[in-house]
Amino acid sequence: MIIVNPATEEIIADIPEDNRDSIQGIYKKALAAQQAWVTVPLTERVSCIEKFFHSLEAQKDTLARILTEEVGKPLQQSYNELNGARTRIQFFLDNSEQYLAEEWITQEELTKEKITYEPLGVIANISAWNYPYLVGVNVFIPALIGGNAVLYKSSEYATLTGLHIERMMHEAGVPKDIFQCVVGKAEAGQALLDLPLDGYFFTGSFATGKKIAESTAGKLVPVQMELGGKDPLYVMDDIPDIRLVAAAVLEGVMYNAGQSCCAVERVYVHANVYDAFCEAIQAEAGKMKIGNPMQPGMDMGPLCRPQQVAVLQKQVEDALAKGASVLYKSNELPAKGYYFPITLLIGVNHSMDIMMEESFGPVVGIQKVQDDAEAIDLMQDTVYGLTAAVYGSDSQRAGAIMQRMRTGTVYFNCCDRVSAGLPWSGRGHSGVGSTLSIQGIRAFVQPKAWHLRS
Ligand code: NAD
Repeated sequence: MIIVNPATEEIIADIPEDNRDSIQGIYKKALAAQQAWVTVPLTERVSCIEKFFHSLEAQKDTLARILTEEVGKPLQQSYNELNGARTRIQFFLDNSEQYLAEEWITQEELTKEKITYEPLGVIANISAWNYPYLVGVNVFIPALIGGNAVLYKSSEYATLTGLHIERMMHEAGVPKDIFQCVVGKAEAGQALLDLPLDGYFFTGSFATGKKIAESTAGKLVPVQMELGGKDPLYVMDDIPDIRLVAAAVLEGVMYNAGQSCCAVERVYVHANVYDAFCEAIQAEAGKMKIGNPMQPGMDMGPLCRPQQVAVLQKQVEDALAKGASVLYKSNELPAKGYYFPITLLIGVNHSMDIMMEESFGPVVGIQKVQDDAEAIDLMQDTVYGLTAAVYGSDSQRAGAIMQRMRTGTVYFNCCDRVSAGLPWSGRGHSGVGSTLSIQGIRAFVQPKAWHLRS
């Protein structure tokens, strides 16, 4: 499999890909090894993960460089991702033993009752490339602590990172057959679907998630989906400093070149502050530096995948053909690499793909609304349901709006953030099931009910 640097279009690696036979072999080894892993005391499993946690810090310079080389995010954002992954792992280190401990329901009665938590078995973690560490640790850390074997199918766009994760896991003491990388593209993912695994944990697009849900439905095993979004953000008219809000919104749109599941993808602005907001966000966009992500000080690198350039181009053309206009477009881009200009569109509406389809890039539509009721209607006009954000001063007014959102997450005066202590989940086309928080620890185990009469 050829790995290309999206910033330079140069080949950076050529590595062997798994096939159906090798994946069958990986599965058999995992199945045998999991029987032993479950007998390793929970504290020892946690201690392996603690060593992995320290490796991420000790090796961060190498890991950050590799991540930037293969996905194109600015080097500082790769460091940020590694830090963020460690924060999440710390949550699992601090909380897993408590939430996986046996629970006595009654010890007083004739029949004593308790609950224990057992691993699912051998699970697939089919993962995305945009935050390979963050979305990876959401799944493989609690899965391993819970006693499962993990077949980790990293994205074909983050394979080198996946292989380093595998190496560090083994160095940390996780047995070789308990955490194994499956190297490949969609076919490798499909081969996992054909195996009799005990759970499927997927992060990626709605289109792929739907295929996976359909093909695993008959297995009757847990299937979790963390999928895409078309996340709205509403700027109310009680804003003390519109420039600060515009800067925060722009970061929510553009961080990781807009390639975040919870990136701000639609902006609605109250008519009373619309002109001021447009002026401020345009000025902020003009300050962003786009270029080689290895160079210090870059705010944005290229897109990770070449095919996404055409997807974004089509969305912008569709909007312009239907009456939108360009508020801001960056003009100087490097000659090589899969770069796309920052593009802010106004005069948009919901007949346009840019307001309805996931963009996953540095483009956004800004729509004027007359009141909160119109904002709520437009924010809800989507098949997705990952996050929704409201900016303003009045927390009660914002709370009433957030209450109405059919999303797994709501934000007040912040956006595009994930916290390990809170469940991360989507509604509708944004997914099924939760990672992180207590739910994300228990998602990888199954309860056993004990009825004990002496
Ligand atoms: P993708 O759906 O193209 O691929 C995801 C993974 O699925 C990859 O490992 C891929 O090789 C594999 N795959 C592809 N086809 C398959 C098939 N038929 N059977 C089995 N496996 C298959 O997604 P992507 O481009 O890697 O990631 C971007 C998407 O992920 C965006 O929609 C983004 O919003 C979403 N995402 C969601 C979250 C979340 O937490 N909700 C986080 C990150 C990314």
